[in-house]
Amino acid sequence: MISTVYIGLGANLGDAQASLHHALLSLNADNLNIECSSPWYRSSPLGPVIQDDFINAVARLTTSLSPLELLDRLQAQENLQGRRRDVHWGPRTLDLDILIWQGMSMESPRLTIPHPYLTQRAFVLLPLLDLDADLCLPDGRRLDSFLDQVKDQHLYRLETTS
Ligand code: ATP
Ligand code: MG
Ligand code: MG
Repeated sequence: MISTVYIGLGANLGDAQASLHHALLSLNADNLNIECSSPWYRSSPLGPVIQDDFINAVARLTTSLSPLELLDRLQAQENLQGRRRDVHWGPRTLDLDILIWQGMSMESPRLTIPHPYLTQRAFVLLPLLDLDADLCLPDGRRLDSFLDQVKDQHLYRLETTS
């Protein structure tokens, strides 16, 4: 079975734009097809850690992998690109999260889909809506109905995109 999935990409260590480019090219292999990616955004970090701005984007892919197989693939790519897990929500060379799996939700110790903070983060909501203005959660709620609650988060759309 082929599933359509939206993933989020983020980085704020090293050459963040190059990291996102590299991740998109590398992930597009073996039962995983990157269909398109959003414009790129610069976002101010949320949360308690003082750190550089992030570069963020979203991609839509099709895959025959299971959710946990896709998570393994994403984490392997993070590791290949130098991801360290010392400070939670701290600076990172690459973060790859599963945001939405079309028609499916799940909750397990390793994986929650849709991503639990999706509706609270402008840096995923805006690029998701760039790719699909009518996108909904599996329960039917439209993503654009959450824009109001993230309107104070600073987000700049970059001129250069993927
Ligand atoms: P946040 O979840 O707030 O975006 P993060 O992306 O920095 O935080 P990570 O350190 O990348 O968090 O991942 C921590 C754990 O989150 C992973 O080991 C993974 O098992 C789990 N996880 C749960 N749901 C998801 C999901 N939808 N996408 C990616 N990882 C997930
Ligand atoms: Mg994340
Ligand atoms: Mg993550």
